[in-house]
Amino acid sequence: MSRYDEEAIEKFRLSGKILRETREEMRSFVREDMPIIEVCEKAEELIRRKGGKPAFPCNVSINEVAAHYTSPPNDGHRIPEKAIVKVDIGVHVDGYVTDTAFTVCFDPAYASMQAAAEHALNAAVDSIHSGMPTSKIGEIIEKSIRNRGFKPISNLTGHSVGRYLIHAGTSIPNVTQLSFTKVQAGEVYAIEPFVTMHDAIGRVEDGSDITIFRLVKAKSVKNPYARKLLEHIEDNFRTLPFAERWLKGIVPADQYRDAFNELYKSKVLMGYPVFIEASRKPVAQSEHTVLITENGCEVLT
Ligand code: MN
Ligand code: MN
Repeated sequence: MSRYDEEAIEKFRLSGKILRETREEMRSFVREDMPIIEVCEKAEELIRRKGGKPAFPCNVSINEVAAHYTSPPNDGHRIPEKAIVKVDIGVHVDGYVTDTAFTVCFDPAYASMQAAAEHALNAAVDSIHSGMPTSKIGEIIEKSIRNRGFKPISNLTGHSVGRYLIHAGTSIPNVTQLSFTKVQAGEVYAIEPFVTMHDAIGRVEDGSDITIFRLVKAKSVKNPYARKLLEHIEDNFRTLPFAERWLKGIVPADQYRDAFNELYKSKVLMGYPVFIEASRKPVAQSEHTVLITENGCEVLT
């Protein structure tokens, strides 16, 4: 029935345990005026210290930025006062990926929006089970969010996860949607409602910042430093997302920019633009990874 054997499931469980512990330690770590890079490096260090590897760079997405910001090297940005901050982290153990996120709210005005994201996630976790249509999960999430006077982000979704895969093919919508896909026992899914204000557009669009990258397809490159970077990326991240912070010291500092640009321009690498709420309204997020069982689910994170 399941495509994962017991050994694989145990690796998912360990991955989730490392991630859960990291998330709980990070909740109280994040502060106003803190350099964003401190948050990213702390989360990634905790994951490694506990025996996992980051499945993607720690995302610290602020206010109207919904997702996909991580600190570039030497990031000078700090967490603004009264910010609403989404911290999204992932772990893999031998490739088995878990994914979780929480929101820290420094403006009491948005506390109920943050709570709406958590309630919607809990509602989905409480009702999900084998055979449930993904459209039904989207409906439950959307209703929960709207009942509290907020709006879901319609074009961000949860997703199945797999070995060395963060998006393994199935999407879990955050709104009512026509789909005949059903979640299956033994499969592992990340559920992640994103919530914004009721008068927002409720969609995200690409911003201009790109801070997270991944390998698309290795091909031969002329520049020997580009080749060295590529080897490091293949060996360490495969096709999982990475940050430029993770490439420090691989090639001489004065060769790095040209080498990286060659990989990017030749489409060996792709970048993920930051996602910004289209009407620039603040966004909250909550996320767990779950293993589906016949009658419900096991929350891994
Ligand atoms: Mn996530
Ligand atoms: Mn996710």
